[in-house]
Amino acid sequence: MPKRPLIFDGHNDALQVLYNPGKMGRDLLEESSSGHLDLPRAAAGGFGGGMFAVFVSSPRPGAAVELACAQEVTERGMKSLLDLEARAQGRLRVVRDAASLERAFRDGVVGAVMHLEGAEAIAPGLENLGAYYGLGLRSIGLVWSRPNAFGTGVDFRSGGSPDQGPGLTAEGKALVAACNRMGILVDLSHLNEAGFWDVARLSSAPLVATHSCVHRLSPSPRNLTDAQLDAIAASNGIVGINFATIFLRADNRKEPDTPLSEIVKHFRYIADRIGVAHVGFGSDFDGCTLSRELGDARGLPRLLDALADAGFGDEDLRLVAHGNWMRVLAATWKAGA
Ligand code: ZN
Repeated sequence: MPKRPLIFDGHNDALQVLYNPGKMGRDLLEESSSGHLDLPRAAAGGFGGGMFAVFVSSPRPGAAVELACAQEVTERGMKSLLDLEARAQGRLRVVRDAASLERAFRDGVVGAVMHLEGAEAIAPGLENLGAYYGLGLRSIGLVWSRPNAFGTGVDFRSGGSPDQGPGLTAEGKALVAACNRMGILVDLSHLNEAGFWDVARLSSAPLVATHSCVHRLSPSPRNLTDAQLDAIAASNGIVGINFATIFLRADNRKEPDTPLSEIVKHFRYIADRIGVAHVGFGSDFDGCTLSRELGDARGLPRLLDALADAGFGDEDLRLVAHGNWMRVLAATWKAGA
């Protein structure tokens, strides 16, 4: 069997152990037995790079996050990634364009993309967007699963539809336009359906859901309907498959006793419906309950082997492992170059 391709992954929450007081307790430089991702486990599993999310928790479930608080936490999160790069002694690089991502892959260095999961820290007038871009920000999820100044996110109710709540606000539409202009990826995961269709109408970039699955197979509001999948394909975009068992299983349960084949089903469905060019990885490492069979980032080779067993050939595997993500990121970021 040829060497397995390196993986680019659309979403992880690993940074939180570096800046969120509620999650701290390990570093990402040393291998840990808790959580899913650190640099040694990335190397062992062939994790070549990914989107590293900065996230601001709600003060209470569903409650809005105040701007000043969001900015304080977000700036701490962004700094934790830049510090990690400085401390990693060449094992991780914050990548800001397609060429530096490709170079990181060639050099065997983890290529980390700075991502905001929810745009709460962006001032509604976008005054600080340029400064955050300067720090390395290259991807923004407009919302997490709550409303904010830009749009409305979906809840996690099992069996629910993503069609809940209004579309983007005027500020949300302006943020999409600014991201297009600057070459920042707009992430649709967590966004409600009205907001999704607003972005589909307005954005000039490929449509991207960094960590979502197939609604037809697992009816969570966090997953994508067939019509949404078709729109992503029409834009030459990508879906990163989320490994959280609640978004994979037909019963939406948090259940470690979920076989790897449940992940494979979602890859297969998207490849069959809209083409292998539009599916990739979106693990949600350190933000979810994973299949025990996958375990953590060290289990990624087992998933690639399961995809190969399900009929993904060598070139298909290269595309889903990183080729598709590289294409979409290059097309999205070139506007800012
Ligand atoms: Zn998420």
